[in-house]
Amino acid sequence: AKAAGGNRFELADPEADARAITRHGLTTALPTALDRGEFFIEYQPLVHLGDGSVRGAEALVRWLHPQHGVLSPDRFIPLAEHTGLIVPLGRWVLEQSVRQARAWRDANGGDALGPLRINVNLSPCQLTHPGLVQDTVEILERTGVAPDALCLEVTESALIGADDDLLKPLRRLAEMGVDIALDDFGTGYSNLANLRRLPVSVLKLDRSFTQSMQQFPADPVDLKIVEGIVSLAHNLDLAVTVEGVETGAQAEQLRILGCDTAQGWYYARPGPPERLHELALVDATG
Ligand code: C2E
Ligand code: CA
Ligand code: CA
Ligand code: CA
Repeated sequence: AKAAGGNRFELADPEADARAITRHGLTTALPTALDRGEFFIEYQPLVHLGDGSVRGAEALVRWLHPQHGVLSPDRFIPLAEHTGLIVPLGRWVLEQSVRQARAWRDANGGDALGPLRINVNLSPCQLTHPGLVQDTVEILERTGVAPDALCLEVTESALIGADDDLLKPLRRLAEMGVDIALDDFGTGYSNLANLRRLPVSVLKLDRSFTQSMQQFPADPVDLKIVEGIVSLAHNLDLAVTVEGVETGAQAEQLRILGCDTAQGWYYARPGPPERLHELALVDATG
């Protein structure tokens, strides 16, 4: 029971009830939402820390719910995973995003800006779904996008203790040239030596590390940890992306520590595809 105010021996939690009701409502509405076209994707730029150029974007799905307005993925991705809708939804996100990468390329008149790469999140359920490799190949062929323009982000926790069966489709994709990124890196308990076994080429350092770079100079222990991760990653030929960069001081610290690419509100919030293209254009033309 709460100690504050007159609410002391409150037993019911009306907010929790409301949340449960909404959760139930959202779960029932999910399957038709895909058919009704209620999902849309925002794109957040990935910026090269060395020269500040926009190198690509991460696709982040949103649900424009007719009653509740725009819902963030944290509200519905877990429900979609629970009901299995994540497989068709994830396939839709992949197809839309790869099409978008193609549209950016066409709008550039070929590769005037250098190819913008596209990062797409994969849920653990998609990893174990037998159609993953074939769906991805078909989408790339249909859109005429090269495999090396695509990066699939898989969370560290999804791959902890992964056996060979789980890694096989990722290996196939990696052999084709698709990049695999280990998302939210540093939050799980993965054995660093285990990294060698995984077909990944990018580490996405979790936002918690970026947050600890808020003060200048940052906590010396945090600095050492990030420094160690970056040097290990580079020794294993992995690129390091940092997420959640909100200030110039964080960007500068992380650049000095050797991180390769950054993402965060300091550069841009996730936004519509036109916005990403504008950012990339401004960047290329000075
Ligand atoms: P994530 O993959 O770790 O994505 C990064 C999240 O950090 C995004 O939240 C992004 O909007 C947010 N972010 C970006 N820059 C900043 C910053 O500077 N400061 C702060 N505080 N936050 C920042 P979002 O869009 O709400 O997505 C949440 C999570 O939902 C994603 O985390 C990802 O795990 C999942 N998700 C999003 N789209 C998809 C999808 O298409 N499929 C799957 N399976 N999961 C998705
Ligand atoms: Ca991600
Ligand atoms: Ca992440
Ligand atoms: Ca995250």
